[in-house]
Amino acid sequence: VKVVGIIGYRNSGKTTLILNLSQELARRGWKVAILKHTRGALDVPHKDTARHMEHAHQVAAISPKGSAIFFKGKRSLEDMLGHLDADFVIIEGMKEEKIFPKVVCLKEKKGVQDLFDGLEICAATLSPLGLDLGVPVFHILDDVKKIADMIVERAFKLPNLNCGACGYERCYDLAREICKGRKEVKDCVSLNPSTEVLLGGKALAMNPFVAKIVRGAIKGMLSGLKGFKRGKIEIRIDRED
Ligand code: SF4
Repeated sequence: VKVVGIIGYRNSGKTTLILNLSQELARRGWKVAILKHTRGALDVPHKDTARHMEHAHQVAAISPKGSAIFFKGKRSLEDMLGHLDADFVIIEGMKEEKIFPKVVCLKEKKGVQDLFDGLEICAATLSPLGLDLGVPVFHILDDVKKIADMIVERAFKLPNLNCGACGYERCYDLAREICKGRKEVKDCVSLNPSTEVLLGGKALAMNPFVAKIVRGAIKGMLSGLKGFKRGKIEIRIDRED
């Protein structure tokens, strides 16, 4: 899945841009998911869902216009992304996450530097700020197609394992280099593993060290069996019993 963040202060045009971008990407045939960060409650207090959530672990809802699952408590970004089925995920907010590129929405010069962390691929404004930001600056309403082009070309997400196998201590460091055009997503060793475990069809995140242990353990167990040969190994476990 390709991920991009849309960040900015209140009333900087984030929601408008996300709406227009999701429309443009969907028009091009991509499946789009939007993941919002909110500090408040997800549902109106004292309404049915909020009351059910007092004691239930999860609450699900089905209606002719859409379906939803509410999980109790805060979940990690990785966990939530695992539930989404999309070609592109647009994340609103989550400035502190450092593993995907960002479009920075700006309304004024104030606070610009706080929003720039080396992961910005472009900025978007409703009126010129007269600043050299070091990245392309687009108009939030008039340049939606250009911003969408940039997202299609440059969106990515690193696994957030901070394993160091790429030569950088943190995924953030490689992500910054990718955003600067000096490295590529394929430089993340964990995204190109020689050992992969799929759970429910989705890859389990494993850093190279853990992958090596899993690989060694499985090969060690199988090597004593009659007929064992070196090469690609595939194991399926379809039931828990
Ligand atoms: S190899 Fe991938 S997962 Fe490991 S630190 Fe580098 S970017 Fe992160």
